[in-house]
Amino acid sequence: MTNPRYLLDSYGITPKKSLGQNFLHDPNALDKIVRAAGLRPEDIVLEIGPGTGALTEWLADIARRVIAVELDDRLIPLLEHRFRDRDNVRLVHADILDVDLDLHIRPEEDYCVIANLPYYITSAILRYLLERAHRPNRLVVMVQEEVADRIVAAPGDMSLLAVSVQYYGQPQVVTRLSPAVFWPRPDVVSALVRIDTYGADRPVAVPDEATFFRVVRAGFSQKRKQLRNALAGGLGIDKEQADSLLGAAGLDPHRRAETLALAEWAALTGAVWENAREVLEGTGGPLEDDPDGLPDGDG
Ligand code: SAM
Repeated sequence: MTNPRYLLDSYGITPKKSLGQNFLHDPNALDKIVRAAGLRPEDIVLEIGPGTGALTEWLADIARRVIAVELDDRLIPLLEHRFRDRDNVRLVHADILDVDLDLHIRPEEDYCVIANLPYYITSAILRYLLERAHRPNRLVVMVQEEVADRIVAAPGDMSLLAVSVQYYGQPQVVTRLSPAVFWPRPDVVSALVRIDTYGADRPVAVPDEATFFRVVRAGFSQKRKQLRNALAGGLGIDKEQADSLLGAAGLDPHRRAETLALAEWAALTGAVWENAREVLEGTGGPLEDDPDGLPDGDG
């Protein structure tokens, strides 16, 4: 019996909300994920949070290798037993945010990420994966609907999350899924997002990536404020200097961060790089400290 609920029962495991444990039990939903990923026999897949292995099994049926990273100790014996005869499944008992992926995927190997993510750390996981020098060529991930909509937002509704994800790849919402496809049911609607990451074909060029994220973070540092104020506060410069940087980038200082397109952030980065490099010190990760407060959710 491979229904997650019965499997968990037989191991005496109750789902932990704190680990975002909502298990997929609907074969149609699993089929949608695998199809959206366009999985091929030569693929190497990183799965985050295999849970009871429902998705893992579908992935292992097709892919060359599946690396499945699970944090919960209680699920490891279950997973080891379920995949004992599968030599293309490697179980890694670890926190995805701590694991050294280089131990499992060689630098010359292409890989993709396919996962029903634990929603409480969606943003941290995306950051960790997208910021890697050896990043996945595509990610097909289940997230909460609200987060999916923020990831694919257009100018007018941009956020630090949207700019950061769209800098690294092209995201799309593939489908939305009702809470009924999970057990236990989450309180939120879920959405499947596919992000195709850029290689050399990146649509915007920036003189320096750390400066780009420093500028974007400064722009979003003060919610609903005009860019001149947000930049001045975020970069520690005066408003006149912020005005002149915005002017050099061809941007109206009264605009707000959420209205800027990626190319406009790149132009602003260029202006800062050319004229005010000295104001930049210390660069945090791009998706860190999202001032919009990425919702934790309980899905
Ligand atoms: N893939 C399974 C499925 O679709 O039925 C389970 C998905 S469930 C939404 C999220 C899984 O991520 C759980 O198995 C949970 O224990 C695991 N998890 C939570 N935090 C994790 C972390 N930091 N690193 C690795 N796995 C984690």
